[in-house]
Amino acid sequence: MVITESAWLSLTEQAAAGAPYEVCSVLAGYRPCRHQAARAIVNLAMINISDTPRHRFAVAPDDQLSVWETIDRTGLHPLAICHSHPDAAPTPSDEDIEFHDPSLVMVISGLDVESTDRAMTCRGWLIKGGIAYPEPLIIDHRISRSSEIFDDHDMA
Ligand SMILES: [Zn+2]
Repeated sequence: MVITESAWLSLTEQAAAGAPYEVCSVLAGYRPCRHQAARAIVNLAMINISDTPRHRFAVAPDDQLSVWETIDRTGLHPLAICHSHPDAAPTPSDEDIEFHDPSLVMVISGLDVESTDRAMTCRGWLIKGGIAYPEPLIIDHRISRSSEIFDDHDMA
């Protein structure tokens, strides 16, 4: 999946700002023909209402509905459900896999285990039959249209 730089920055800044709690969001964008990679242009943040937000995430139905309405209104497609692992690698837990919608990519921001200074990184996953397969995330540094579409809506 391709992610525009602005959506990528929003995703990584949201995860950093939310630590030590998990954050969650939806990446939305375009889903072209099957020969082209989906292209995420905006990160739509949701509030983590879990009772144990350091280790889990949960979204209020109203919040989720509002994000889905925003996606509908702009003619985009939901592409990925994102959450963060402030203290762990960006690999899905059994629970992450169990409750994930397999029609969407799973994106996790987590600790880069190869880094010595607790840097964060993101990984994409496709969930099929209860197994997580790596989905490459490609950052597109060209200017995206997301700032035009979402001019009046604070996504951070
Ligand atoms: Zn998780």
